[in-house]
Amino acid sequence: MMTVTLFGFAWDASSSYARGPALAPAIIRSVLFSDASSPYSLSGKNVGAIISAYNFAALPETGDACRTAISERIAAAISAQTKPLSLGGDHSLTYPILRAIKAAHGPVNIFHIDAHPDLHEEFEGDRYSHACPFARAIEDGCVNALVQVGIRSASPEQRVFGARHGVTMLGADEIAAIPYDKLAAPLYVSIDLDGLDPAYAPGVSHPEPGGLSTREVLAMLAKLPAAPVGADIVEYNPERDINLATANVAARLIKELAALMA
Ligand code: MN
Ligand code: MN
Repeated sequence: MMTVTLFGFAWDASSSYARGPALAPAIIRSVLFSDASSPYSLSGKNVGAIISAYNFAALPETGDACRTAISERIAAAISAQTKPLSLGGDHSLTYPILRAIKAAHGPVNIFHIDAHPDLHEEFEGDRYSHACPFARAIEDGCVNALVQVGIRSASPEQRVFGARHGVTMLGADEIAAIPYDKLAAPLYVSIDLDGLDPAYAPGVSHPEPGGLSTREVLAMLAKLPAAPVGADIVEYNPERDINLATANVAARLIKELAALMA
């Protein structure tokens, strides 16, 4: 069995609107193994035993140094024969994660849940914004296939970029069209919590009604044809959450992703 290193990347300075995701990792971790929930995945695996290490160390405060630190920590986990499961923080951190994943595994197939394609060339003058990580990853050769699900806010520019690079961009009403055959190993999973409907995950900075249900996301994960080499759960904003509802969704997703990765 492969074990998992759970990372908490408390970084939200690349967010375009509201800060808050930097508070997320510690809160999600407290919910994950609280006495209010069990440590078991839906398939019955004890996630407490799968997660062999935790790294919630503080990050440098400037973007370049922060991204370098994230890439180095992910590379170290892979070198130690564990798989990285990362909690954001905002979605900008997926690019430095993918740099380290590519160095170890080559270009990966990515299953990406989000309301937004995050394929901007740049956003508000920042090429490393949380609106840009998959554009950077594609340019950098980190990506083989990219399958996005839940998209409901793609700009014309992002649609052009996606079409040019063979991105599969599906709305929340197009689940039946998910091309699982494109998601063979090496597989990476990136879950932006705003891909879910705000009814299920209200604690996000950019809520877009008309999204996925928790059950739909769990069903998709169960259909993935390969064990992910890494995964992330990003954009939880505790300042927008209601009764920890979104933190509990994130904790359930950690359990399912860790069980798949093991
Ligand atoms: Mn999003
Ligand atoms: Mn995103």
